[in-house]
Amino acid sequence: MVLDLVLVDFDDTLVDTGPRFSQRRDRLFRFLEDQGFEREEIERVHHKVVDSELLGILGFGPFRLGPSFRDTYVRLCVFHQRTPDLAVARQAEGLAQGVEKASPPLPGALEALEQLARRVPTGIYTQSGFPEYQLKCMEDAGVLEIVPPTRVRVTPEKTTAAFRETARALGARAGPGVWMVGNSVRSDVNPALAAGARAIWVNAGEGWHHDRAHLLRPTPTTSTFAEAVDRLLDAG
Ligand SMILES: [Mg+2]
Repeated sequence: MVLDLVLVDFDDTLVDTGPRFSQRRDRLFRFLEDQGFEREEIERVHHKVVDSELLGILGFGPFRLGPSFRDTYVRLCVFHQRTPDLAVARQAEGLAQGVEKASPPLPGALEALEQLARRVPTGIYTQSGFPEYQLKCMEDAGVLEIVPPTRVRVTPEKTTAAFRETARALGARAGPGVWMVGNSVRSDVNPALAAGARAIWVNAGEGWHHDRAHLLRPTPTTSTFAEAVDRLLDAG
């Protein structure tokens, strides 16, 4: 098997990011239920109205969470013709506190990354609206000691065009010799497949609602990054 380049996702592939967000979202949803709203409507307004709107403005990363929480409450009030209580709005926003803290590496992930990077050209390909913040997270996790910053690409959004451009910047042409390994079907797997490259989906569980999508094509799937590396290196 040809391995010209392996691109590796960061959040929820190498580090455990999701729970920091999902635990706080759960707390918000319970808080808003206590304010008299229905859970189903709360989740719909948060996911489909407020958060997707703010994603376009504030981008991926932790800075959207507080505003999303606050706005979900205010928006629900507006829908129900209730006057928002400013103290409650501030309390909702406060539930996002601490989400910006660095995520710990997933078990075995850094060891596997080291193994991979020793054997094949490897890059980190991650999305964030705030490259400096994202680089700091990667540094704190110990990833930059394994893959140098020159082999790291941060994009505001993982589109097919961004995938092609990343492969090119790291010295490869997006094709069957280029692999993407990541936990998101929407952001990691499908854009790589659409670019003519190959992918391994690290399906670690339920994940973030935004990441769910249908696979463009049947794709090898593992439950950890380490397993994906074993597959690549065994086959290579
Ligand atoms: Mg990810």
